Amino acid sequence: MHELSLCRSIADLVVDAATRAEAESVTRITLEIGLGAPVEIEAIRFCMPLCLEDTVAAGAELVIERPLLEIRCGACGTTHAATTARAPCPSCGALAGTILSGRQMRVVSIEAR
Ligand SMILES: [Zn+2]
Repeated sequence: MHELSLCRSIADLVVDAATRAEAESVTRITLEIGLGAPVEIEAIRFCMPLCLEDTVAAGAELVIERPLLEIRCGACGTTHAATTARAPCPSCGALAGTILSGRQMRVVSIEAR
């Protein structure tokens, strides 16, 4: 289950940042997980608090942003936003395209006090 190891690395990163900032506690963690990222969001929501237990970030609010995929059509070159990688091009209807973004996973911000 790779969501668990993903959550562990996010937790490490958050705890590291909080420690460096000499924060008392982390109140909110905002993640950006593109709609095309190959992870189960429910699993992230489940695993994240577990990985943060007994750390400076225990109990932090978890905010997950889901940016749309950006796809460049392989047939006509139009760039469009979509919720899935299989969305047809709005200009020509072609299904083949290159995913430009929307698979990213990153920590956007960490709020601490
Ligand atoms: Zn097209």
